[in-house]
Parts: sequence; C-alpha cells; structure tokens
Amino acid sequence: MTEAVVIIGGGQAGGQTALSLRQNGFEGSVTIIGDEPYVPYERPPLSKSFLAGDATEERMFMRPAAFYAEKHIVFLQKTTVTRVDRAARRVHLENGDSVPYTKLVFATGGRVRKMNCPGADLPGVHYLRNIDDVLGFRDRLTPGTKLVIVGGGYIGLEVAAVAVKRGCKVTVLEMLPLVLNRVVHPEMSHFYTEVHRAAGVDIRTSTAVTAFEGSGKVAHVVCGDQVTEADVVIVGIGIVPNVELASAAGLATDNGIVIDDCMRTADPAIFAAGDCTNHPNDVIGGRLRLESVPNALAQGKAAAQAIMGNPQPLHEVPWFWSDQYDLKLQMTGLSRSDDQIVIRGSMAERKFSACYLRGGVFVACQAVNMAKDFLQSKKLIAEKVRPDPARLADLAIALKDL
Ligand SMILES: Cc1cc2nc3c(=O)[nH]c(=O)nc-3n(C[C@H](O)[C@H](O)[C@H](O)COP(=O)(O)OP(=O)(O)OC[C@H]3O[C@@H](n4cnc5c(N)ncnc54)[C@H](O)[C@@H]3O)c2cc1C
Repeated sequence: MTEAVVIIGGGQAGGQTALSLRQNGFEGSVTIIGDEPYVPYERPPLSKSFLAGDATEERMFMRPAAFYAEKHIVFLQKTTVTRVDRAARRVHLENGDSVPYTKLVFATGGRVRKMNCPGADLPGVHYLRNIDDVLGFRDRLTPGTKLVIVGGGYIGLEVAAVAVKRGCKVTVLEMLPLVLNRVVHPEMSHFYTEVHRAAGVDIRTSTAVTAFEGSGKVAHVVCGDQVTEADVVIVGIGIVPNVELASAAGLATDNGIVIDDCMRTADPAIFAAGDCTNHPNDVIGGRLRLESVPNALAQGKAAAQAIMGNPQPLHEVPWFWSDQYDLKLQMTGLSRSDDQIVIRGSMAERKFSACYLRGGVFVACQAVNMAKDFLQSKKLIAEKVRPDPARLADLAIALKDL
C-alpha cells in the first residue's frame, strides 16, 4: 500500500517533518493540515523584527507558499482537525471531511495560556502566538501609547524592548519576585531588569493582575489596590500544549504527547514533534517538554526518519535565543535559579556569559553578545564537564579548553 503521511499542525515542526520526508526521498503522499491561514512560518520574529515592522509575513515563511505544491506536499490551510480515529486510521476535520493516513504526526504545538480574571475578555487585551495576533495590535504601538505587558518572561520582555523603542510608555507586571524567574539565576534576572529600567520600562515584580477594567475596551489593569492605566495590554504568561486530540484518541499525554527518543508514540503509526511533545533527553536527564525552534526542527527531522523506517535517537543539548535591545542572548542547556553561577566577561559592558554549575557540573550557559561561548558551551554540557570555577571565569581561557 502507498504510504500516506498526514501531519496535524502547520508550524515549524510540521513543516520540517514534511520537508525532511521529501528531502529524504519519501515518495508517498504528504498532507499538512493547519488551522492558520499561512504556510509554516518562524514565530521568533513575532516578538522581534515583525513586531518592530522590520520583517514581512513572507520573510518568516519557512519556504515560499509555491514550494509545497512543487514538492507535492498538500497543504490544507484554515483547516482544523477535530478527531483522530486510530482504528480506521482517519483524521476528521471541522468542515466534515476526513483524510486517511498510514502514518500520522502530531505537530500541534501549543496555545497561549489565558487570563481568567474579571475583564480578561475586554477588547484591547491581546495575546501573542501567531501572525494575526501581532497584526491585531502592532499598529497601536505608537508614541505615547500606554502599553501594559502581563508576564516578565522572554516574550514579554522582547515586546517591551520593541515597544519602548517605538515610543510607548511600557509597564511590565510580573507576578513573581523576579523577571525570567523560572529559567535564570537572580543575577541574570537583575541584569535584565536594570537594562529595561534604563531603557524606560517600568518593571513591577511581585505584582499579580486581579482584573482588567474599562467600558467597551480595556483602560486599567488592576493589581490588588494598584491600578495602572492601559491603552493596550499584551499578555505573555506561557503556553499550554495542544494534546487534547491525542489524548482523546487514547494516546498517553503528560504535559505533552508522550513519545520515545525517536518521536514514536505507543501507536506504531503515530509520531509527534515540537512544542507538543513530552520526550526523553539523556543530556538533561529525564523527560521534558521544550518550547524552542531548534527542538521543533530537530524533532521534525527525526520524525521523518522514523516514519521512513530509519529511527535515530535524538538527545541534543537544548538551545534557545532572545533578542532585547542590543543584547543577543543565546542559551544552551537548562538552568535553574538555584544553580551556582559563574560570570565570564563584563555585565557592565553588556558582553558576558553566565555559566551554570550544578553540583560542580557545567549544565547551562547564557551568553550575552558572546557567540563563541554559546557555540563552545554545547560540548561542555554534553560531556558533563566539571570546570574549575576560577578558570571558567577567566576570559583568557576559551570554554573549549576547559
Ligand atoms: C512570540 C514568540 C517568540 C518566540 N521566540 C523564540 C526564540 O527566540 N527562539 C526559539 O527557539 N523559540 C522561540 N519561540 C518558540 C518557537 O516559536 C516554538 O517553539 C515553535 O514555533 C514550535 O513549533 P511547533 O511547530 O512545535 O508548534 P507551533 O508553532 O505552535 O505550531 C503548531 C501549529 O498547529 C496548529 N494546530 C494545533 N492544533 C491543530 C488542529 N487540531 N488542527 C489544525 N491545526 C492545529 C496550530 O494552530 C499551529 O499553527 C517563540 C514563540 C513565540 C510565540
């Protein structure tokens, strides 16, 4: 029987799976079903160059729209999958149609976590996950606009950096005592807080939003007895993985669709890739769910190989980046706020690496305008090196020589 691969989700993981299938010579049919009105695109510019107005939609596309037809990849846009029938090997669509498969890939990603306090549905309260979200508020980020950002994670801070540059009056409200609290050492958190404050952003920590108020549109953000005026609100409080379809089809989920290191679920006909997966990673030690482009692409490639009968275990050092102002932050490994931190370089000169040791083992690096350290740190993490902290702090010694 001719193979028919159906990919649910047209993000970078879904797009890469289709691409890799064709690059590896897969001759069966490939269908991507995605609910957005765009071919697979890169999301990182949404809070960076696209938000700033420096990139077009087309520049974010992984491949031009015509590419899919050229490669005989069927792309069903604006189409939502509502049910997977594993017994009949069919996916059912919202429009009543159904599509048969011999192999199925969940690349369903995640959706924004929503606020559920009073006023959360008021016009002017926005979220940021896709192109249309940005088009919904970008033009409103004009000089003097009072922008309140809920959530001091990477996306919130990137939006703050762009908006303050556009002349907005920006306030960031973070519920926890520190921005980037989950993922970085307090010293890094303080560094980013000071950078934003120096740029004119009002960062308020330990401040939880209790309500949005306004008649007809948002006008105030309420945090207990503190009220902040707002013309526009952008909420960035994380995502929830889209696992419901898989779970309703009887597949195991646990903060992500449970897969092995070759992207396989317990059903030999079904695979998963990207933000929606809970996968093992020997480098980190244990199972995890990652929200990053490198992971979505690597898992898409690995899913294609597994589908073609050539499964390759994937255990990579996670990496990620964030652009704020002139700071290019590149991160490897997964740090915790209680890790030991060793700084190489100068925070004052905005050129340094924060290296993280856990029980003496090099587990993560956050390189700010230090591309070489970023590249070289991956090997140290993979090899679980135990560097001498004094040598680690010495910029004269390259990371690769530790
Ligand atoms: C603003 C922003 C900035 C980011 N910046 C960075 C960065 O700097 N570096 C980095 O590494 N990562 C960054 N990320 C994260 C990165 O973009 C994601 O990790 C990556 O997009 C995940 O790709 P994915 O294909 O797994 O999921 P997604 O991109 O979420 O794609 C999944 C797609 O499936 C669709 N879908 C879901 N369910 C269905 C269904 N039932 N039927 C049809 N379609 C469905 C969704 O609508 C979506 O289009 C950023 C993300 C955002 C939002």
